[in-house]
Amino acid sequence: MNSSTHCILCGDELVYTNDLSEINCHFCGEKAETELSCVNGHFICPKCESSSVEDLTMIHCLNTTSSDPVSIAMDLMNHPNFKIHGAEHHFLVPAALIAAFYNFKGQVGLKKEALELAWERSRNIPYGFCAMNGTCGAGVGTGTFISIITSASPLSGKEWQLSNMMTARSLDRIARSGGPRCCKRDVFIGFVTAIEFMDELLGVRLPVNSRISCPFHQANRECTREECMFYPEMKPVR
Ligand SMILES: [Zn+2]
Ligand SMILES: [Zn+2]
Repeated sequence: MNSSTHCILCGDELVYTNDLSEINCHFCGEKAETELSCVNGHFICPKCESSSVEDLTMIHCLNTTSSDPVSIAMDLMNHPNFKIHGAEHHFLVPAALIAAFYNFKGQVGLKKEALELAWERSRNIPYGFCAMNGTCGAGVGTGTFISIITSASPLSGKEWQLSNMMTARSLDRIARSGGPRCCKRDVFIGFVTAIEFMDELLGVRLPVNSRISCPFHQANRECTREECMFYPEMKPVR
């Protein structure tokens, strides 16, 4: 797919109109004038086109109204600056979960501080932490999310327990999927596990599409293909 002629969000064609029209950027929400947008009306402003992935994650999570963490993360991971594997996935997981959770609860005013906390707590988890420390950063991101929304501290009771339980459940599932590492798969496992966890333990049922079909497998040389539950011919999550 040629990204200069196709939309990075939906893959459909970019088309020119004869007139300049005003359109909102999909990521930052700001209005801009353009002659070029995709047939489905997606537009990305020049600033968001060249943003760092961390800035883009922050701004998109602040602006999106979606309650589906998978869809929020999928838009970000489709951005050309988002690598197939990398430490940026460690912030992506709590950020997309925070955005979806507070959007669903109608508490959008709580997003900014929560996202800044998630960035502070995720930014120092290095790439390769999964293999070198036996602790996948995407799995940790789910525990970071629960810690932030429950205001857990080292002295908390229930909140401390929930945060650690969240990470443990994600890591267990990530481990069972086996190596080699895949940041996309591990992000998806984190979301599936966190969505179930919220439903079971917080009574929050996010309106999400239950089937995740990974569009990134061709870009990942080590993709385990049929062995992965998110390969387009998906097996149920174990
Ligand atoms: Zn599009
Ligand atoms: Zn923008």
